[in-house]
Amino acid sequence: MNPADIINIVKARNPHEPEFVQAAEEVILSIAPVLEKNPEFVRLRLLERMLEPERMISFRVTWLDDKGEVQVNRGYRVQMNSAIGPYKGGLRFHPSVTPSVLKFLAFEQIFKNALTGIPMGGGKGGSDFDPKGKSENEIMKFCQAFMGELARHINHRLDVPAGDIGVGGREIGYLFGAYKKIKNEFTGVLTGKGIGWGGSLIRTEATGYGLVYFAENMLQTKNDSIKGKTCLVSGSGNVAQYAIEKIIQLGGKAVTASDSSGFIYDESGFSMEKLEFLKDLKNNRRGRIKEYAERFKNVVYKDLDEKADHNPLWAIKANCAFPCATQNEVNGKDANNLVKNGVTLLGEGANMPTTIEGINILIDNGVMYSPGKAANAGGVATSGLEMTQNFMGDHWTREAVDAKLQGIMKNIHDTSLAAAKEYGKPGNYMVGANIAGFLKVARAMQAQGV
Ligand code: GLU
Repeated sequence: MNPADIINIVKARNPHEPEFVQAAEEVILSIAPVLEKNPEFVRLRLLERMLEPERMISFRVTWLDDKGEVQVNRGYRVQMNSAIGPYKGGLRFHPSVTPSVLKFLAFEQIFKNALTGIPMGGGKGGSDFDPKGKSENEIMKFCQAFMGELARHINHRLDVPAGDIGVGGREIGYLFGAYKKIKNEFTGVLTGKGIGWGGSLIRTEATGYGLVYFAENMLQTKNDSIKGKTCLVSGSGNVAQYAIEKIIQLGGKAVTASDSSGFIYDESGFSMEKLEFLKDLKNNRRGRIKEYAERFKNVVYKDLDEKADHNPLWAIKANCAFPCATQNEVNGKDANNLVKNGVTLLGEGANMPTTIEGINILIDNGVMYSPGKAANAGGVATSGLEMTQNFMGDHWTREAVDAKLQGIMKNIHDTSLAAAKEYGKPGNYMVGANIAGFLKVARAMQAQGV
């Protein structure tokens, strides 16, 4: 069966799931040369099997808001693939959450987790619940109601959720507390836990740090580095914050950040002090990024224009771009603007932030492009390290975890690059990451039979 046939099957089986089809198409096209070389994989329909969740759970979440009124949301867990380890992947709480979005995320997670070298399968979950504007009490009530249903489908050896958009340390705490009460056991069933109760040092920083370590590895292949580079960052949550921190530490200059209302452009760049303001604003006060422009001089703020066909954030002169907000935030027009304004490297901190058209434009113009499943794998990799520490009953130092994270990112980089070269696409990190991830999972599925 050729790639076009498989793409058609995916489209027919998953109508109204554009995000899932998009993620599938990218992988199917990337691994076409592997299927050609290995007719056995085609006969065993390994790719088709990977494209079908092993199990998909959907449940009702009923909770009481502060006014005592009943609220109803939908919760999900997609248990996508367990060939190489227990299902692993985050929970997303956002009104845009649909089966299509969670299936694309769970599908990407299969390959991302395989690339880390830690035995973890792929999964993802979440809810259409919107945390924006909710009180502390409402967040807690929702998390408890959500776990009331999810708890029966997970445990530390079967499926280990973590955070994603809308789910940070606070939510993991409430979810963990609820799980412990329901199951009457203290295990590492979730990752991203607090440091005093089973969490790993560096887990909070890991996605953003890992992203910049990966970019540093890419630049090193050209005898270059992040030092002195002007970087565009989108988002202002956990991934963006620690990407900015690592850019500063490595001598680069991060000049932008954004939220769902707009973005800021600070030409002089973030300092550690400015970054602390951003962290406090987002993590503690849960305010809007606009406040940053009110607090510091010479900062431009622009409201998001939902009707515009491009995002002006990506039209600022820079060397590197790190989309760290959400899916499809860099389209074809944005990609052209990035190229025009001197960007030579794009690393995906978010999952699938670049459209297929955008990716093609970047690659055709010689921009070093790394897909999220490779570049942002540091988060889930460190979740894997948290699971290991939980199983061992141990707690590693900051230095030890950071060293492992750096090693894992280098390994993902080198493995992706080697696979790309072997299959005739030297320098193509997208193809390389997809092939290396696919091969690992495919061989496990082959060994385990039909
Ligand atoms: N949500 C993160 C991701 O997209 C982390 C998942 C995890 O730590 O399990 O990879």
